Amino acid sequence: MKVANTNKLAILTYHSVDPSGSVVSVGPMDFARQMDCLSERAIRGTSLAEAITFRERMGVWPERVVVLTFDDGFANFYEAAMPVLGRHGFTATVFTVCGHMGGLNDWGPRPEGLGVLPILSWQQAAELARSGIEIGSHTQTHRDLRRCSTAQVEKEMMVSRAEIEKHLGLQPQSFAYPYGGIDPVSRRLAATHFRASCTTELRRANSDPLDVLPRVDMHYLRSRQRFASLLDGQLDQYLAFRRLGRRARRVFFSDSGTL
Ligand SMILES: [Zn+2]
Repeated sequence: MKVANTNKLAILTYHSVDPSGSVVSVGPMDFARQMDCLSERAIRGTSLAEAITFRERMGVWPERVVVLTFDDGFANFYEAAMPVLGRHGFTATVFTVCGHMGGLNDWGPRPEGLGVLPILSWQQAAELARSGIEIGSHTQTHRDLRRCSTAQVEKEMMVSRAEIEKHLGLQPQSFAYPYGGIDPVSRRLAATHFRASCTTELRRANSDPLDVLPRVDMHYLRSRQRFASLLDGQLDQYLAFRRLGRRARRVFFSDSGTL
């Protein structure tokens, strides 16, 4: 179904809710303030699945909604984010690295400033799912899919799907590409195995295909003023500027990103 061009949806990317100040961290107090900011504007935080169900039914993204996504499945989602979301009646999508559940974020070089942190257990994930949190896949081992063979990409997706089904008794619908890394193979397989897939393309979603949904990383919205501007629909130009800067860095320094 075609989505009207003027209809935009912010899909926010969080990673860890912790006080370290790393590039992928949002402090617990800041997170609580951001959720207050949504409620003050009568904007609801929801899961990706909820927003997509609305778009499939109505042909447009829901109004006064932002989608809250959390990559990597840090255990601090359970401890620090969930109580805040619960107070506001919000939901969210957590993209889990299924082979690390109950373990640590030790799948590769960690983003600067981020220590070794625990990942959700399956028991915690099951409790979250019962509370309305969508549990999606962020692959089995957090490999950059652009550097994998077709068979490896397929395995990363299928094994993570099977793990979620086994532990939670539900079929995951959403997927997030590690490091935002997409190529024709990973895109084709993600479209086969999942209803929707998220990239790290820095902008609000519009009439995008569901297998390459752009998101707005909270790293760029740490200031309260910027966050408020995004909610008021006034930040598209700033995001375009940052997007170009990021692309240039990747071309000149082969920076594949740490997210
Ligand atoms: Zn990740």
